[in-house]
Amino acid sequence: MINKLPYQRALSRAVRAGLPTGAAILALGLLLPARSEGFMVFGDRLDLSQRDFRIWNNFSDPEANSNSTADPDFPGALGAELAIWKGVAEWGSQPHGSGRTDPTQDEIGSGASNFDAFYSGLAGGPGNTNGNIISEIPGSLFIKAYTEIPIRDGWRIRFYQDPWVWNDAPDGILSSGPDAWDLQGVACHEFGHALGLDHSAVPGSTMHASSPTDGGISLRSIEADDIAGIQSIYGVRSATKVQIQSYEFIPGGVRILGSGFHPTNNEIWFTHAAATTGSDGTPVQVMGVPSGGGGTRIFVAPPALSGPGDLMVRRPGRDPEDLSNAFPFDPNSPLLAPPLTYGLGKVSSAGIQASLDWTSLPSEATGSFELTCLTGIVGGTPAILFSGPHRTSLPALGGTLLVARPLARDQVLQLDFFGTANLSVPVPAGMIGVTRYYQLWFKDPASSFGSGLTNAVQVTFLP
Ligand SMILES: [Zn+2]
Repeated sequence: MINKLPYQRALSRAVRAGLPTGAAILALGLLLPARSEGFMVFGDRLDLSQRDFRIWNNFSDPEANSNSTADPDFPGALGAELAIWKGVAEWGSQPHGSGRTDPTQDEIGSGASNFDAFYSGLAGGPGNTNGNIISEIPGSLFIKAYTEIPIRDGWRIRFYQDPWVWNDAPDGILSSGPDAWDLQGVACHEFGHALGLDHSAVPGSTMHASSPTDGGISLRSIEADDIAGIQSIYGVRSATKVQIQSYEFIPGGVRILGSGFHPTNNEIWFTHAAATTGSDGTPVQVMGVPSGGGGTRIFVAPPALSGPGDLMVRRPGRDPEDLSNAFPFDPNSPLLAPPLTYGLGKVSSAGIQASLDWTSLPSEATGSFELTCLTGIVGGTPAILFSGPHRTSLPALGGTLLVARPLARDQVLQLDFFGTANLSVPVPAGMIGVTRYYQLWFKDPASSFGSGLTNAVQVTFLP
């Protein structure tokens, strides 16, 4: 809370306790402790299960959602969503992306502690007091915003609707009038409370209790005392903290580059593509992901539910450094190219169009990938999986040859009684990034040429 903060915290506790608000404010306001110099803490912190936050963008002032210019460091967000996300990201262990998209400060992300918040996407409502959601609350009050604590099991931040005029202000310039206030700066201050920081006695710090005269713009950038505060709770950013440095799209998914990844068991966190409701802000997660290169690279296919937002890696453990920095990420890239099927299979003597499809990604890390076929030939019959370096389309055996020579015979197998098979195909070493084409021949005595052919699958090998 910015202005008259003692009352604000009192209100928070009153709200949580369900007490009559006015009485609680008065009672608690008389019991404020004496202030000492420098930052103060609540004595609590967010563990790794409470690093997510969401935004319910119900901000009613047009000035709060006037910005329609995308920011590459905060993909998918505009208006109030973007402003609040920036305010939260200021506390991160390192710059969020380039960190250089706020003209009012050098870098967004100055905390240099083992703390990073994960943006889990838009919420469909304000949530409960532990839902980690930031939103506007209807009504008018002398305070601007408040954070509901204790924080250990989650928190909630609300901005009072009136009389304040909330501004998203990507250029750092607020609308005129004494009640114009900066969403980003006030969000930065309030999120400091969610991290476990009380008000500081140091003038000019983001966590100072007094109301700045610039509408809160100066609160956007945390200062030395704020940094000392967050480091006192979460530690100084350690050399062993998991770190995402970059990522690149490769066929079938994303290669995350960084350090400190676990060899076999990483969690990858993605932002929800659609707004989520209820009190659970758990990110879209992929579990048990291995790494390569001595913990410096991870391959993962973003789940269908993931959207633009943050990317995070968590390794086993509960220490703050077991969670990476939050890295801006947008899965909606045209470069995403999982395996694909092409061509048409020959209709077998059973009247089935023979098909070949893929069911798992061809990753070198997992060593193999899965294909499945369907022929309709009952009783079990021989088949051959073959492959080549190029695709083609040539009439052959009453069907179509879809793989160009030179052909390799990858597997000789027997289809099961129902004419199907699941094939585990090795990923050849040293083939990352190489594309290969697969097709299946099978014996079909009642068909022309006594043979059948499926469609084909194009595969690019992944790390
Ligand atoms: Zn405050």
